[in-house]
Amino acid sequence: MTTPVNVTVTGAAGQIGYALLFRIASGAMLGPDTPVRLRLLEIPQAVKAAEGTAMELDDCAFPLLDGVDIHDDPARGFEGTNVALLVGARPRGPGMERADLLEANGGIFGPQGRAINDHAADDVRVLVVGNPANTNALIAASHAPDVGKDRFTAMTRLDHNRALSQAAARAGVPVSQVKRLTIWGNHSASQYPDLFHAEVGGRPGAALAVDRAWLTEDFVPTVAKRGAAIIDARGASSAASAANAAIDHVRDWVLGTPEGDWTSAGLWSTGAYGVPEGLVSSFPVTSSGGAWDVVDGLEVDDFSRARIDASVAELVEEREAVRALGLI
Ligand code: NDP
Repeated sequence: MTTPVNVTVTGAAGQIGYALLFRIASGAMLGPDTPVRLRLLEIPQAVKAAEGTAMELDDCAFPLLDGVDIHDDPARGFEGTNVALLVGARPRGPGMERADLLEANGGIFGPQGRAINDHAADDVRVLVVGNPANTNALIAASHAPDVGKDRFTAMTRLDHNRALSQAAARAGVPVSQVKRLTIWGNHSASQYPDLFHAEVGGRPGAALAVDRAWLTEDFVPTVAKRGAAIIDARGASSAASAANAAIDHVRDWVLGTPEGDWTSAGLWSTGAYGVPEGLVSSFPVTSSGGAWDVVDGLEVDDFSRARIDASVAELVEEREAVRALGLI
């Protein structure tokens, strides 16, 4: 049998963790021929709940699941890890300022980055889901000087999937007929879902975007504020769709994106499309041979440029804030 891949999930006892672990163990993330060993990392108060989830994982008798370990120490939780899904984060509490939130998360993602640096496998791939995901990824990467920056990514795949679904509904076509859509910038309300290079039902996405009122007052805000709409309807934040997006992101990273299409992911910028180097920002990306590549050569018109710049400016502010707090 193939050697199992070590997958660490932080915040394993949370809502997203519960929706994620069973799908990883079933083979949905790394394919039907790859056994996995799960490492659940939690804070001490949540270890008992993680043990309950591990019992349920046992009870599924997944043929691909090689074992489950539970840790509250990042050094042990990331030992030999090949894929790290950083889901656990400090949520914004009542009256909490942005600086408090960034500081609390710096206290989580800094040490986790350091533990990944010191203990993970050489081929480690990190996906940050916990918010503010882009800046948490920046903090983690900054504490892992021996790991390539291309190994740290932030999740904008849920935004991407939401945009696919909205565009398909507008055009009245199946979601499988929407291709080459892009989420740019931060995983926040400032993100920019870009239809201009997309293909929707065999037609250019620009044909949908011609209706500027729909684009600016419906499509863009619906995608960007979908999380809040789900909380309003469901009484709890999205969990299954976030877990699904994490699975999609890692699967495409490891196994590749389909020919003729691309997806969106938050990557460490090397300066593409004028995004300052060293910000973790969302780009149009393809993957092959286990590595992401930013799609290059796309023309960005003034309409899109202004929106990309606004979201990137927010990332710059977040970086300045974490710098000022001494977190990077
Ligand atoms: P969830 O599992 O619902 O969410 C976890 C994180 O994912 C949050 O930061 C959340 O951000 C973020 N997130 C990103 N995208 C989405 C999305 N589309 N929809 C919803 N959330 C999204 O949180 P729970 O409170 O249920 O569980 C968190 C767990 O993490 C707890 O078990 C806690 O003990 C653990 N934890 C573990 C740590 C560790 O391992 N060191 C550190 C801190 C917490 P947002 O806040 O914006 O909803």
